[in-house]
Amino acid sequence: MAGEFDLIDKYFCRQKLERSDVLLAQGDDCAIVSCPADKQIVISTDTVVAGTHFLPDAPASWVAHKALASNLSDIAAMGAEPAWVSMAITLPSLDSEWLEEFCDSFFALADAHNLKLIGGDTTKGPLSISLTIQGLVAKGKALTRSGAKAGDIVCVSGNLGDSHAGLEVILDKNKCVLPSASELEGRHFITSSRVELSQKLVGLASSCIDISDGLISDIQHIMKRSSCGVDIDVSLLPVSEELEAFSLHPDSEYKDAWRYALCSGEEYELCFTVSPDLLESVQALSNEIKAIGVVNESRILTLHQAGNTLDAKLFGFDHFRE
Ligand code: ADP
Ligand code: MG
Repeated sequence: MAGEFDLIDKYFCRQKLERSDVLLAQGDDCAIVSCPADKQIVISTDTVVAGTHFLPDAPASWVAHKALASNLSDIAAMGAEPAWVSMAITLPSLDSEWLEEFCDSFFALADAHNLKLIGGDTTKGPLSISLTIQGLVAKGKALTRSGAKAGDIVCVSGNLGDSHAGLEVILDKNKCVLPSASELEGRHFITSSRVELSQKLVGLASSCIDISDGLISDIQHIMKRSSCGVDIDVSLLPVSEELEAFSLHPDSEYKDAWRYALCSGEEYELCFTVSPDLLESVQALSNEIKAIGVVNESRILTLHQAGNTLDAKLFGFDHFRE
């Protein structure tokens, strides 16, 4: 696009953070990084598109935060430490105010995680941001979806459901009068990824995933990759007081906070499994970690509430849901 190189220099080369393992960043055909001999590199790409993943008029600071937080969450799911990121950005126009706000937010979050922007691509077209993030983890120690074993305890790293309730408020302004609506809206906008906590789970958790599509959907990825089943007690799902109050209102979409907790996407909390003898060590890491269920050999997902079995199929959630 016109003025592409000036734009790249002005906005995408401004990060002050330096990493000694970045030998060459923006300005050449490729970036060059070095990796310690005892580490492995984990790599993940995520794209956000205006109109699909965020409303076209969403604030630039939030778009940047959301794009990067979801990438950081993937790094967290592997127990890795963030290192480098590349950004392919498509912009409808050269809007300096938008770019200022976008970059301030992007680099604030990147700096907070010692993550260096090392390159990318800038094009003109409908707004979208695609990030490829890379992280470092001790050789052979990455947390994956495939290690859960029958008898392991299923845990989550913090309250679930707020993000979906917040989205409900954003999409239907009439709901802004519901209890705690503004707090929940804020939690949809700004989520933090469990990057520090997950590194402490290395060597303790048997499997791990970040909750991006909703617990009920993401837990099934662990089940598939680990060839196991999971039994969740919905009364153990951690929810905020704000969500409790919101869900009690007759105009809320779901009438129980635990339904939000099961289905809410874009949480960026971790769901992981741990052998029962390590549960105490894991819970000592953070009082937000809660045990919510048990792994079994059945290969199916069962949900319980006060001794009653619920039908898990009723709670499916994916991108194609109307
Ligand atoms: P090439 O033509 O070799 O693909 P570009 O002109 O696309 O190079 O990019 C020039 C330099 O600027 C490259 O080093 C590239 O990594 C960097 N760059 C381009 N866009 C971005 C961006 N959005 N963020 C960070 N670096 C970028
Ligand atoms: Mg290019």
